Amino acid sequence: MSYTMRILRETIEKNPNEPEFHQSLTEILPTLQPFLDDHPQYEEAGILERLVEPDRQIMFKVPWSDESGKVRVNRGYRVQFNNAIGPYKGGLRFHPSVSLSVIKFLGFEQIFKNSLTGMPIGGGKGGSDFDPKGKSVREIMSFCQSFMSELYRHIGADQDIPAGDIGVGGREIGFMYGQYKRLTGQYDGTLTGKGLAYGGSLVRIQATGYGLVYMVENMLASKGITLDRKTVAISGSGNVAIYAAEKASQFGAKIVTMSDSNGYIYDANGIDIDVIKEIKEVKRGRVYEYLNYHKSAKYFEEGLVWSVPCDIALPCATQNELREDGAKLLINNGCIAVAEGSNMSTSPEATELLQKGGVLFAPGKAANAGGVAVSALEMAQNSSRVFWSAEETDCKLRTIMHEIYVNSSETAERYGMKDNLVAGANIAGFKKVAEAMLQQGAV
Ligand code: NDP
Repeated sequence: MSYTMRILRETIEKNPNEPEFHQSLTEILPTLQPFLDDHPQYEEAGILERLVEPDRQIMFKVPWSDESGKVRVNRGYRVQFNNAIGPYKGGLRFHPSVSLSVIKFLGFEQIFKNSLTGMPIGGGKGGSDFDPKGKSVREIMSFCQSFMSELYRHIGADQDIPAGDIGVGGREIGFMYGQYKRLTGQYDGTLTGKGLAYGGSLVRIQATGYGLVYMVENMLASKGITLDRKTVAISGSGNVAIYAAEKASQFGAKIVTMSDSNGYIYDANGIDIDVIKEIKEVKRGRVYEYLNYHKSAKYFEEGLVWSVPCDIALPCATQNELREDGAKLLINNGCIAVAEGSNMSTSPEATELLQKGGVLFAPGKAANAGGVAVSALEMAQNSSRVFWSAEETDCKLRTIMHEIYVNSSETAERYGMKDNLVAGANIAGFKKVAEAMLQQGAV
């Protein structure tokens, strides 16, 4: 049995009941085998055994009080996975589906993603099963303060730097930063995604969505195609989805669908992004409210967003949102490219179908790395007390996405897997981390 298959089997056996983590291991480990065959020193040093075991997993109680004064309790997590190339870095997710398995899969992916950015950041992730939907601002603040009252002792600007993810945007980062500052007395760059008034970076809000579209730009360019006049289907209507839609439309594409967990909208004239921003960012409403602004649009509670014919599909909601049925619809409708805005958007079966069907495919760890890349730029600005313009930051982001594309595609080609960005991104991300671990000895 190969080294990667042995480690995969042993890790799954050692961590039962963690399906998302198993899926991520199964997607990543086997693709590393050709590289490991060429570099036996990594197996000799037990690099994979050490990589699949988080440095530490912190689980804690988060008590908070609701509007009626009743005390409620949620569970908080921070998994510090690997800091071989820099301090732990990764978002916090607040969603009822959060479990140790979800946080471990996200943290494991983050190691490779952060390495791909070329920035000195290790992998971590955290969050809670708290559901922010329907909560008052006071309840959200109470929760965030309580969450930070435990988390603060495990993080720091040179130790572990959390950011946002599903259910955690600028408002929540602000509440958590305020509490961190109060408890530690430190004014440093320990969280990213901060407001512009207190150390945030321009373009951080846009970074993941813009970066995703820059990745698509590179994928299409390799085939001599541009985004101009392409039809784009997007799932989700949160931070990543909104700014992917904005950048794609700036490149001349037409966005025809967006969604949330209740349903999806279809606008044949192209989605009005200002209206989506108003509904989601200002009113914190539901996507069906779009029909109040554009009567000719349609709303569907049933069915898949992927049933809408498109040239490019950008899943931007959550893991496993694009499965075999969705992949078949996309292929049959002539889709040419799929890039994951969400982490592990696509099930393994769907990924295989898309790749075999000749659809250009970019995995999340490459395609959505723009967010963490600009977070690292925020850290650089905080520690050097400078503030870059939007143009400068956006230009750096576009360059980073180009480099991630080139690094992933050239690595894939070197190992005889041309156009396989999944394998290319995994090997390219692994390489630097493995080398750093080797040089740092048995830690
Ligand atoms: P938001 O909370 O801003 O938006 C999430 C969107 O996805 C909402 O429209 C939400 O709908 C929908 N959604 C979430 N969970 C589900 C679900 N289980 N079923 C159906 N729809 C769902 O999150 P982000 O935009 O920040 O994150 C989206 C994805 O992008 C995540 O996978 C995240 O890990 C990934 N990502 C985010 C980065 C960032 O910088 N924010 C960086 C890199 C990756 P509803 O409101 O109904 O819940």
